[in-house]
Amino acid sequence: MSANPCLILVLNSGSSSLKFAVQDTASRTPLLSGLAERLGEEGAKITFKDDAGKQVHPLAEASHAAALDAVLAELKRRDWLDALTAVGHRVVSGGEKFTESVLITPEVIADLEACSSLAPLHNPAAVLGMRVAVQRLPNIPHVAVIDTAFHQTMKREAYLYAVPMALYRTQSVRRYGAHGTSHRYVAREAVTLLGLDPADHGLVTAHLGNGASASAVQDGHCVDTTMGMTPLEGLVMGTRSGDIDAGAVLHIMRAGRLSPDEMDTLLNKQSGLLGLSELSNDCRELEAAADNGHEGAAIALEVFAHRLARHIGGLMVSLRRLDAVVFTGGIGENSSRVREMTLDRVRVLGLTLDPQANARMIRGAAGVISVPGATPRVAVIPTNEEWMIACDTNELAHRIPGSAMGKVA
Ligand code: ADP
Repeated sequence: MSANPCLILVLNSGSSSLKFAVQDTASRTPLLSGLAERLGEEGAKITFKDDAGKQVHPLAEASHAAALDAVLAELKRRDWLDALTAVGHRVVSGGEKFTESVLITPEVIADLEACSSLAPLHNPAAVLGMRVAVQRLPNIPHVAVIDTAFHQTMKREAYLYAVPMALYRTQSVRRYGAHGTSHRYVAREAVTLLGLDPADHGLVTAHLGNGASASAVQDGHCVDTTMGMTPLEGLVMGTRSGDIDAGAVLHIMRAGRLSPDEMDTLLNKQSGLLGLSELSNDCRELEAAADNGHEGAAIALEVFAHRLARHIGGLMVSLRRLDAVVFTGGIGENSSRVREMTLDRVRVLGLTLDPQANARMIRGAAGVISVPGATPRVAVIPTNEEWMIACDTNELAHRIPGSAMGKVA
């Protein structure tokens, strides 16, 4: 910890979980992080992780409030409560209302609650987390860092679907994008890593985790992205289909007499890498299986790479020029194989791969993996959404008149 620590508590509330991290604004590695899980169920527990290792405790009460109390009790035990200067909350959807991170007020909470129809699994949980945290920590600023905010700079030609405009006007049907905090973070890091002009550059960022999306980022602003109104569109994901002909959806529903809920489950939970491979949603497992001759695993990885390559090509046209493609997320940061398979399919764009550099860029390593001197470049940059949330939170808290908070190093 730094000499005069400024600690930010980062919270990510899910419907049955609460992820947290305590960041010292002087370091990118959290001092303490963890997860409370099975909230609202039997066997609720909380895991704390720090340099010394992991500790798991049962939670007496299976609620978000009890989980936050356990986190605060741990901060007190470590004598860190006085150094806690602000709380950053991760929010999945801010609809069209929020274009950047924002200090939390009762009005902001109400507006985010009103966006719940756009993220029914996530926003109600985030709002619950905010209410509990504001009640427990009323004297320090709380900030909402909203995933969709980064994508609000898209032009209407990029975010509108070609369906009756009335659906946009009355039901907010449009592309919102996802993983905005991650895309924003790696795009910012890429400018530093690659020595780009912050005011004049073009990137395609590919966030490949269980959920996956790619974005076109021009001069630090999102100009296009693959994820749509819901987290279903675009790239192949662990269990989500990504792009599919809407006509095929109707056909499957009619032929199988599926209800909307059953179709929802098919597309969100039984498709993607899992559906194609008929084996697993886990990329690492599929790579091992493909090596052992499992054809489904090989097919799943091929479709994943093809779809990504196709979208990289598509996203490029939204940019003035392409300086680099950036890989991040569990797959993007670790799977040299998926990166190689993808880059193999975009040679027509002049993208290259240095096999040795590609093999080295795993487990948290950041660097260039294209052939030295070749352009556009290709890079791997591990994402750090908690750090991005802590930075925004610290910056906004700092803007409050009379605030004595430290700046992020
Ligand atoms: P989430 O979206 O849930 O945060 P992650 O970003 O952690 O997910 O990504 C999870 C994915 O990353 C899984 O498919 C996992 O198999 C993959 N992954 C992690 N490590 C490796 C690896 N060494 N090789 C290939 N895939 C990996």
